[in-house]
Amino acid sequence: MTPADGDRLVTSPSHDAGTAVPGSDGIVPADPGSAGVPARTFHIRTYGCQMNDHDSERLAGLLTADGLVATDDLESADVVVLNTCCIRENADNKFYGHLGNLKSLRESRPEMQIAVGGCLAQMDREHIQQRAGHVDVVFGTHNLGRAPALLRRAAESGPLMEILDEPLPEADPATAGSSAAALSAVRDLPYAAWVTIQIGCDNSCAFCIVPSVRGGEVSRPFAELVTEVEVLADRGVSEVTLLGQNVNSYGRDLTRRRPLFADLLRSVGAVDGISRVRFTSPHPKDLRPETIAAMAETPAVCNHLHLPLQAGSDRTLTAMRRGYTAERYLARLAAARASIPDLAVTTDLIVGFPGESDQDFESTLEVAAEAEYDSAYTFIFSPRPGTRAAEMQDQFVPEDVVAERFERLRVVVERSALAKHRARIGQVEEVLVEGPSKRDRPEQVGALRPVD
Ligand code: SF4
Repeated sequence: MTPADGDRLVTSPSHDAGTAVPGSDGIVPADPGSAGVPARTFHIRTYGCQMNDHDSERLAGLLTADGLVATDDLESADVVVLNTCCIRENADNKFYGHLGNLKSLRESRPEMQIAVGGCLAQMDREHIQQRAGHVDVVFGTHNLGRAPALLRRAAESGPLMEILDEPLPEADPATAGSSAAALSAVRDLPYAAWVTIQIGCDNSCAFCIVPSVRGGEVSRPFAELVTEVEVLADRGVSEVTLLGQNVNSYGRDLTRRRPLFADLLRSVGAVDGISRVRFTSPHPKDLRPETIAAMAETPAVCNHLHLPLQAGSDRTLTAMRRGYTAERYLARLAAARASIPDLAVTTDLIVGFPGESDQDFESTLEVAAEAEYDSAYTFIFSPRPGTRAAEMQDQFVPEDVVAERFERLRVVVERSALAKHRARIGQVEEVLVEGPSKRDRPEQVGALRPVD
């Protein structure tokens, strides 16, 4: 999973009329602000990846359905929810910093509630309340849908924590991945939507904490996903991004007969009104010919493949437990490029995994150069407690060595990215404009795809 750049706020209160769902405990909430009582407001701060961004959208939908109103002013919000990430040390340091800052606000406004959910909450559990006594509710990754009910209960009876070790049944509307929660989501953009197709991961990459906090893979039913996309298209959505920790193993828990992800791409791509289908992230070891064929033969599927390499040395890949060699990775990439014209390829790379030698790193440089990425998310290894890699302390690479390698890798990636971008000069591309850039407001940002 690729962490998003920085934190994002869910600020749009533009909830579709007619999408209100029963409260997460089954009670239909009162209209916001009815009987002259101003509605309580909520503010969600999100850390980490697109999965968390979309969880926050769903949470915003559930809180709105529960009678609360979104605000982008954290200082005045009646309920502040921090949706946390534990993939990188940086994200959890930021979270604990923000949580500390909220203490004085909570003291000055005793009626305010603070809730902490998401991956770090699932991992740290009671540690959060021990470290920050001003937190009212702690909930995990499997019961996001119960957050509104937990907040109401905490308002009556004081701070509480509810962490489940496995997902609620899919049919339960309180389930994070349920259709009810997904369809009531308050989305940032009216024309683009994330659709979570699976939660959890069955792999055991040595650096990754996701399987411990999100659990094993659970795929959402095929028909339910297609219906969800049809409803989104009826509401004006033209671009969907299918989300999962390992999207191309989607459906492995539903059937072993055929790779369902390829079928899902074709079915979603055939929905009337959907003109762009994206997905993130596939795992190189599970990139099957059927998926490549579905990408090539479904006009709505964008010609972009985010294929996380992580390292180019077979020794490091084995230590990481990635399940492929550099040669196999490059062969699958070549097959994808041969079938899908003008394929844009992006990746994730980790520098300084424990035991990475100069020679291992040289292999990463070579494979990255050969893969000719359009762009890459490059990360410096950071040990996450609870992972195998965190226990390899005797093999940690010195910081100055890692910094120097990181810089060399950046140069290689930027070289191919620049060449790819230069090759597009003069081409006519279709752009889906997203709006003003978050970094430079006068600029508009959008996503390209070539015009046939
Ligand atoms: Fe983590 Fe590996 Fe699963 Fe991705 S595939 S979520 S890196 S364990």
